[in-house]
Amino acid sequence: MTQKGKYYVTSGCSFSNETNTWSVHLKKYIIENELGECYNFGSGGGGIDWTRRSIMQGVLDLLNTGVSNNDIKVIVSWPWRNEWEQPVCLSDEETKSFLENKEYQTKFGMANRVYGSNFDKIGFKKRSTFESEYLFKYLVSYDKETWWTRCGEYRYGGLIKGLCESREDKYYLGLQYMEYFESILSLQMFLETNSIDYTFFAVKNIQRVTTYKTWEECFKWDKSSEFVTSLDCSCKDCHSALNDGWKGQYKRLISPNLLNQKMVYEEYPFIKLIYDQIDWNKWWSYKSDVNDFGGTTECVSEQCDIFAYHHDMDGVLISHPNFHAWKDWFDNYLHLHLKNKGMIT
Ligand SMILES: [Zn+2]
Repeated sequence: MTQKGKYYVTSGCSFSNETNTWSVHLKKYIIENELGECYNFGSGGGGIDWTRRSIMQGVLDLLNTGVSNNDIKVIVSWPWRNEWEQPVCLSDEETKSFLENKEYQTKFGMANRVYGSNFDKIGFKKRSTFESEYLFKYLVSYDKETWWTRCGEYRYGGLIKGLCESREDKYYLGLQYMEYFESILSLQMFLETNSIDYTFFAVKNIQRVTTYKTWEECFKWDKSSEFVTSLDCSCKDCHSALNDGWKGQYKRLISPNLLNQKMVYEEYPFIKLIYDQIDWNKWWSYKSDVNDFGGTTECVSEQCDIFAYHHDMDGVLISHPNFHAWKDWFDNYLHLHLKNKGMIT
């Protein structure tokens, strides 16, 4: 542990992973400028459960080793999906049996993972396809003591089937939003209780009701942007794009117009109780002609070159931003935001 400097604890889904996202660029900046240390829990496939619990664990670990709450800075990228995580209670023997097989384990930043296919003997049903009974594709842990299995996007699968499958008002979406917002509120309260400085943002606009049809399908090419045909770079992302046959594309996208979409609490009034308690002033968001509370996806697609490498110019245009797009976003948006909030120098 360094004697001075700040401790940055970050988390989220694959949009905060340890490979090429903003969290990598943040860490590089912090280390190069000797501002402190970074603990990134960003985990591909992670949802709201992973995000809030990993941050809690990371913060408490630091407090327990004597770090002052004033020196801890939390940055959260709220993820794509809910993804319910269930703790698996393993005996010491079971834990030992899979921890001994080091080749089945991966560690990205602060996130540990063991793949289920190798450890079905733990007793969780293993399925190759996504179903509600599906309990075990892999185990994740932020401390290598408590292991969690990701159980799918939605906690209330059975309830939905029994109660409201026939409803046409997308009621279940409202339940998902409620769960999502309650997670945000729970982490906000944890951070406030411990007097920890923090900022939140999300991968997309989470205040407006969106569906696959009104969001994923609505990103378009910005045909006024330059059409590039070469990548003059040897980084891992560019290298594999060229290997995969990348031929060229427009530099920018236009994100979906969300200004006419209903606010989530208008569509689902039961959310208002939770929504109103969230301190939205602590958030970074993206504003444009078509968006009022955009997330990183909308911002990167419109403001950073080559969001992702496209081999097919049709279909859904968004996926994971590449290394360079994330770098631009960190330099031009997150860095400034953290400065304005006094969280970085
Ligand atoms: Zn590159």
